[in-house]
Amino acid sequence: MFWEDGDNFLDLIKYADNALEASKYRGKNQCTQFSHELVQIKRRRLSIANQLQSSVLRGMQDFYLVYQPLINASSMKVEGAEALLRWSSSEYGNVRPDEFIPILESAGLIHQAGKWVFQEAVRTCKEWVKENPGFVMNVNFSYIQMLNEDLLPFIRRTLKQADLSAKHIVIELTESCFVTEMDALKRSFQQLREMGIRIAIDDFGTGYSSLGMLSQMPADIVKIDRLLISSIHENSFHQSFINAVIPLCHSVGIRVCVEGVEEQEELKVVRDIQADNIQGFYFSRPVEKRTFHDRFLDLQMVL
Ligand code: C2E
Ligand code: MG
Ligand code: MG
Repeated sequence: MFWEDGDNFLDLIKYADNALEASKYRGKNQCTQFSHELVQIKRRRLSIANQLQSSVLRGMQDFYLVYQPLINASSMKVEGAEALLRWSSSEYGNVRPDEFIPILESAGLIHQAGKWVFQEAVRTCKEWVKENPGFVMNVNFSYIQMLNEDLLPFIRRTLKQADLSAKHIVIELTESCFVTEMDALKRSFQQLREMGIRIAIDDFGTGYSSLGMLSQMPADIVKIDRLLISSIHENSFHQSFINAVIPLCHSVGIRVCVEGVEEQEELKVVRDIQADNIQGFYFSRPVEKRTFHDRFLDLQMVL
């Protein structure tokens, strides 16, 4: 806006460009009004990108994994864990994955970071399987990682080196990004499943085309996003969606996990609608490896 944001042509053009860039970064096809805050956000993003790059190049320094238990909804016992990446920077402190994962992706660092996550998660899983033969580890992958040609040989090698059977691994893939390479993704899914790895569609119900994705992709597990459960009493569409989706999944042999259960009431809803697995702060926040081991590895324990 002339006067409000700047008083000359060059500044205004530069600012308009900032707004354009912000729209593109958030997935294009949307309107952004320039504000000086946008410039701050961009500075922070660039600075975080630089620091992430040096962390990754220094062998994933300042990164670590935390683990959140996955509970069986009927037995209420721990069945496994989801491994979640953390990054703590000296300048910014603990930065949320929702902020740093997209930066890793756009900076092209996600491939290397994702490999480290997988190796760490596999190593930990192997240790925990020794104590609990049924243990399952869920690992998150970004859509762009799945399109990388050498991902499958890498996964095969990593499992072989750790001497871990693929049946202990679930790969979670969120469909929050628009899938443009459906065929390539389908091929990766198929190859992973042939190896014995199970695939979970993460954040189900919030993406571009949850049902479309489900009909096209041979998934083993669907993870229903917290948003749907937390609003089930206020939003009749969410309620009907969940009531329809769970039997639909079960009828084709897909297991359903509900994420983000925080309250006793939500737990009751989730058990009533026949979900297979539950995850959420109600049971535990994601915790460090040692803590998970001490608190949750006894799979006989009923929570
Ligand atoms: P996600 O895979 O859906 O992971 C679940 C997120 O929900 C985690 O957030 C977890 O802490 C949070 N959560 C679990 N239970 C509750 C609850 O009861 N209430 C609420 N409000 N939240 C709950 P986190 O750790 O911040 O991770 C955010 C996202 O970042 C993940 O969502 C995942 O998409 C991505 N992410 C994390 N680690 C990795 C990774 O290693 N690779 C990739 N590609 N993405 C990752
Ligand atoms: Mg996940
Ligand atoms: Mg999720």
